[in-house]
Amino acid sequence: AAKEAGRGLWKRFHPSMQHQVEDRFLLEGELRKALELDQLRLYLQPKNNAQGQIYGCESLLRWAHPEKGLIPPDVFIPLAEETGLILQLGDWVLQQTLALAVRYPELEFAVNISPREFRNPDFVARIQSRLAASQANPERLTLEVTEGLLITDFQQSSERMLELQKLGIRFSIDDFGTGYSSLSYLKKLPINELKIDRSFVRGLPQDSSDALLVETMMAVAQHLELQVVAEGVETPEQREFLLSVGCTHHQGYLYGQPQPAQVFLDRYQTDQQ
Ligand code: C2E
Ligand code: MG
Ligand code: MG
Ligand code: MG
Repeated sequence: AAKEAGRGLWKRFHPSMQHQVEDRFLLEGELRKALELDQLRLYLQPKNNAQGQIYGCESLLRWAHPEKGLIPPDVFIPLAEETGLILQLGDWVLQQTLALAVRYPELEFAVNISPREFRNPDFVARIQSRLAASQANPERLTLEVTEGLLITDFQQSSERMLELQKLGIRFSIDDFGTGYSSLSYLKKLPINELKIDRSFVRGLPQDSSDALLVETMMAVAQHLELQVVAEGVETPEQREFLLSVGCTHHQGYLYGQPQPAQVFLDRYQTDQQ
């Protein structure tokens, strides 16, 4: 045990670790200011239906850092989550998205909700007040949550979801299949949609266990009357397989990468004409 502790101590003070700690510390300070310095960027990625038409999009956050360039969310969302900054960032994303939803009422808009946001006591009230202020149609808003978040405090989750669902808001399970949890929560919670994680889509159609898993998810979803969206669709072969098992709604580079919101919407508008 002493050896273990000693090793832990060494690890903690290793110079490269020290660097990481300093980097984190600097990044945290900068992230705090990112909002007021107008460094956040809203990106949108299309969601397409069986006919290949765009029916909606997902809001994906980027941080335009003055020296480091465009920082992807995997780098700063966990930091924002730990520090609580996610509450401000998430609110910014929601407000930006709702403003766009008002301008494009025919599109469905999806926003990612992190565990800390969802568990915050004012979560429901905040969504309600942002909806009211924006005049956006709640039925066009989908909130993407992860299964881990929902099952941690089951009772609270279902109450919050029900309250928002009464307004017409839809709930989607993001990264579905990666949470290692029992499937029983699916029938107990007010869920509308499953997003098949792209780790299951990657190997399609050759990988027989991925194929089997996707077919099984489709069977579960059909039984529970849930809509399904496949994430990370990159090839026509993946698309064909998904369509053949009844998965008609797709998101992925085959259809479009995330783009700055206005670029995406301008292209969408042009394509409609
Ligand atoms: P997610 O919600 O599962 O979003 C899908 C991720 O997959 C996005 O990464 C998207 O760019 C990427 N992706 C989409 N299609 C493809 C494809 O065909 N191939 C590959 N290889 N990747 C694809 P991104 O934008 O880097 O976001 C990563 C994660 O960060 C998101 O995963 C989400 O969990 C989180 N995130 C992003 N924006 C927000 C936000 O505003 N709030 C919160 N709480 N989390 C966010
Ligand atoms: Mg998502
Ligand atoms: Mg996902
Ligand atoms: Mg993901």
